[in-house]
Amino acid sequence: MGSWREERVSKVLRDPFGFTLLETSVVMAIVGFVIVLALPNFVTIRHQAVAKACARNLSLIQQAKERYALDSGQPGTVVPVAGDLNRYFKAGIRKARCPFDPARSFHTSYRVNAVNVPPACRKNPERHRL
Ligand SMILES: [Zn+2]
Repeated sequence: MGSWREERVSKVLRDPFGFTLLETSVVMAIVGFVIVLALPNFVTIRHQAVAKACARNLSLIQQAKERYALDSGQPGTVVPVAGDLNRYFKAGIRKARCPFDPARSFHTSYRVNAVNVPPACRKNPERHRL
């Protein structure tokens, strides 16, 4: 019977890549702890990126509405439809959609509103604003 150290050394020499259950458990606990710490940050960053993308679309919609009103001589109270604004979007207005919209459609993503009222996101109007 040797000491604990001698037993450990002899075990390591027999199987140099083996880990004990305790060592494996400690590593898994540390990895789990890091994941638990990092996950909320990833979710927050993703939500912020989606809100920014949506706000950019809302800004483009507002600019298109103002250009439409100027070009057609309409008052600020006119409510343009998507077809009226399409020519002011390079890729077409149908490509503009909220990233949170599962339907991936302009009409289910945004409410255009009148020219003098900012457009609104239908999916998350509290956080996705101009
Ligand atoms: Zn949105």
